Amino acid sequence: MDKALGFLAPIIISSLIFALNVILPGRWVTGYVTKTNSREKMRYHLNGIYVFFTVVLIWFVPGYFKVIPFDWLYNYRWFGLAGAFAAGMIFSLAVVLRYPPVRKSFLSDLFFGRIENLQFRGGLADAKMWLYLTGATMLELNALSFTAHHLALYRDQASTGIILSTALLTYFIIDYFIFEEVHLYTYDLFAERVGFKLGWGCIVFYPYFYSVFLWSTVDLPDPHTSSWLLFVYVLIFLSGWILSRGANLQKYFFKKDPGRSFLNIVPETISDGNNTLLVNGFWGISRHVNYSGEILMASGIVLCTGYPTLIGPWLYPLYYILLLISRQRDDDKRCALKYGDLWKTYVKRVPYRIIPYIY
Ligand code: NDP
Repeated sequence: MDKALGFLAPIIISSLIFALNVILPGRWVTGYVTKTNSREKMRYHLNGIYVFFTVVLIWFVPGYFKVIPFDWLYNYRWFGLAGAFAAGMIFSLAVVLRYPPVRKSFLSDLFFGRIENLQFRGGLADAKMWLYLTGATMLELNALSFTAHHLALYRDQASTGIILSTALLTYFIIDYFIFEEVHLYTYDLFAERVGFKLGWGCIVFYPYFYSVFLWSTVDLPDPHTSSWLLFVYVLIFLSGWILSRGANLQKYFFKKDPGRSFLNIVPETISDGNNTLLVNGFWGISRHVNYSGEILMASGIVLCTGYPTLIGPWLYPLYYILLLISRQRDDDKRCALKYGDLWKTYVKRVPYRIIPYIY
């Protein structure tokens, strides 16, 4: 029975997240993306932060009253992974088969998706935002449950580093929800379609792979990382957060109100009369300094676990490196097409792609 429930857990939780996304109050915002074949901007109902805390509370209460152990999701993690895998496949197939082909090959359509934007009841729920909401919330539940397992196993010998790494991951997730609207201005929203990459990616990969640093370390004893080293690791995480959040917010404010300063940085721009690009602040350091930030954050989290020579935890930042290098290439191609000579001027002025002076 528990095994079947373990399998069904991701399906039940993602359905609950959908219901809460629709039912709970939220802010209606105008996004950055326009509706297909129209100049009208999409509208979104954003309430991720409320949905997130409600789901975490629903996880916490039965644990607190000892009805369902806090580490139940950890105990049935392989069944949960299998259930999420099945749900991700079914979702991707269902969402792709419903719409006409956009590419020659069905497999490419399945992977990249066909429909650009899919909304329920005029935006009350949006497929892409729901997928991110599901992935991030499920990741948090996994992290909490894995850490609960570590605490139950080692009690007063538990590792401060494991607790810290989960706290940093929680910070990363809550930060996403606080700035959920900024996500409307990102590549996933304006360049991706809803298919396997996004659907399976958010239902399976995001919650089960991004927690790989805990999968590989929660059973291990406290490595007794010194406090000053933990402090350095937190600083690495925070410096990554400053780069990533800073760049994303600077661009967000610029797109909403091109004259507006951010952190006292007055926007400096280049323009060809039609389009304008930012060339100072975070966007003057490298063309995707936010990607470096993301990699630094993941590295800080992994280092905190206290096993820097284990390969398992490093899979998380390593995956970011692969994803973000290929994302940067795709995005640069897209920008070169969209902005033409203006992009060439920007590339000359800001030559580094991701890491200043290195790449
Ligand atoms: P960016 O936020 O870098 O957005 C790229 C877009 O910004 C370009 O397509 C262009 O779009 C616009 N742009 C680029 N340069 C300029 C400029 N100089 N001035 C004005 N606009 C510019 O990339 P992403 O959307 O990929 O990433 C957003 C965030 O999400 C990042 O922090 C990234 O690290 C994070 N991320 C996280 C992942 C995760 O799994 N945790 C995965 C992928 C990304 P336009 O046509 O609108 O001008």
